[in-house]
Amino acid sequence: MELHGENDFKVRSYQSAVNSLERHHKSLALMDIDELQKIEGVGKSLAQSIYQINEQGSFELFDDLSDKTPEGILEMMQLSGFGPKKIKLIWEKLDIDKLEDLLIACKENKIAALKGFGDKTQVKLQEAVEFKLSWRGYIHYREALQLAESIIDELKTIEGLTDVSLTSDARRKMEVIKPLEILVATENKAKIIQFVAKNEEFILDKKNSGPLSLKFTYKPLKAEVNLIFTKKEHFVNDLFKTTAHPKHLNVELEKGKSFNDILKEKQFSSEKEIYQEAGFPFIEPELREGLWELDWAKENTIPELVEMSDLKGILHNHSTYSDGKNSLEEMAQYCKELGYEYLGISDHSKTASYANGLQEFRIKKQHEEIDELNKKLAPFKIFKGIESDILNDGSLDYANDVLESFDFVVSSIHSPLNMDEKTATNRLLNAIANPFTTILGHPTGRLLLQRKGYPINHKAVIDACAEYGVVIEINAHPWRLDLDWRYVRYALDQGVQISINPDAHETNGYHDMYYGLCVGRKAGLTAKETFNAKSLEELSQYFRDRKKSALSKI
Ligand SMILES: [Zn+2]
Ligand SMILES: [Zn+2]
Repeated sequence: MELHGENDFKVRSYQSAVNSLERHHKSLALMDIDELQKIEGVGKSLAQSIYQINEQGSFELFDDLSDKTPEGILEMMQLSGFGPKKIKLIWEKLDIDKLEDLLIACKENKIAALKGFGDKTQVKLQEAVEFKLSWRGYIHYREALQLAESIIDELKTIEGLTDVSLTSDARRKMEVIKPLEILVATENKAKIIQFVAKNEEFILDKKNSGPLSLKFTYKPLKAEVNLIFTKKEHFVNDLFKTTAHPKHLNVELEKGKSFNDILKEKQFSSEKEIYQEAGFPFIEPELREGLWELDWAKENTIPELVEMSDLKGILHNHSTYSDGKNSLEEMAQYCKELGYEYLGISDHSKTASYANGLQEFRIKKQHEEIDELNKKLAPFKIFKGIESDILNDGSLDYANDVLESFDFVVSSIHSPLNMDEKTATNRLLNAIANPFTTILGHPTGRLLLQRKGYPINHKAVIDACAEYGVVIEINAHPWRLDLDWRYVRYALDQGVQISINPDAHETNGYHDMYYGLCVGRKAGLTAKETFNAKSLEELSQYFRDRKKSALSKI
């Protein structure tokens, strides 16, 4: 609506309705127009639109706006840091409706001359466009996994199929995926080709498909998918070959041979057998990067990777006290139902006013509620935490006597994110040195495929965490997965503990823990090195000791 110049009042009324609907608990699909109208911020016409979506899958205003908006404009609207008003101006004044044309315009210095832009904004825009273009066709791991599952389920119903598996990057649990590759052993390729060609959600890439593979795009996510064909008797060898990173495949093993050579010698019946042939223990798919796993294998020191069942509790979560969707009690109940021993609640702090961050008096109220719930839910325990904003100078945004009232503090940067490496690193180093910081939250602020995050000196930050005993989180939200697994290895080598935190803003967010776990496993994370694999008792003791030490330092 903003893009098409709709009046501000109308735009704002939609925004506030969306905010209210996002926090709404009940299924809108089960409500009639009268009920819908009673939801805060939803007027009569919006109630009718929601009802129409439920009945017909869409509504008039949306269809109308969609028809008037080129696809490329929608992509331009996703550029980090550029809102609809700026995009509208570029579209109108320069007649640009594609990222590729926008990039050329930046390079030809045409954007800087536009009203409200200038040289600096042009540079930022160019960076944002280049970032967006470089990740085109990628999807994040959770999307990849869900898409793969649904495709594999359908493939399994097709006549002639003997074996099927996820493979390549997705099987190695990479954080972003392109293309999504699935290995298919079949006696009837034609049936598979028919299945892809007939599916309305797929666009077959005829030019790049052939007897060895079938390439297509999954329209709703613009995701590239590649079905790799093989035969039943070659399935294990091909699965091994397509899963591993080339560095893993080509590294010289004993007697000058590589895995690639071994695979040429015969057909194996299991991957375990292939490793046996190389004189190695089994290496999990997610470790097959050709980085550190082959040294471990040679020395027989492959770590026992952390499992979901090792995780005893969930730290870093939000409730309706700040910007979460579920109440404290609902968050706790569901956590308990899932079989965990404890929940760490860490709502936003007072600086995060956009997220309804907690003023001091509200912290007190939350702590009273936690005390009550802890009586009710015992032996399950809610730990009192906060996600404290790291301010510009690296200090936390509460006085020490307030920080002292928490069991643990997740320290995170939320704004401003636009910093050079030195500024960002120093800001983090100061926060890490604060004796009240327990966990460093999402260390770079990146959003995969959307925003780069601020640059930091990873080694300096991790070394400081080691020095001050600060735990680093793997933020398990599929868009974040930060600390990046490539640095998790370095952190573990420095003795830093890692906490797998979902940053859940609703009960369902707990299930994202799995994606954080995958990232940890890629780095060789074990249960012993995982902070939230500690039992309730161990963690209570840890928090007590940590607070004692903090109080002795201030
Ligand atoms: Zn945060
Ligand atoms: Zn958070």
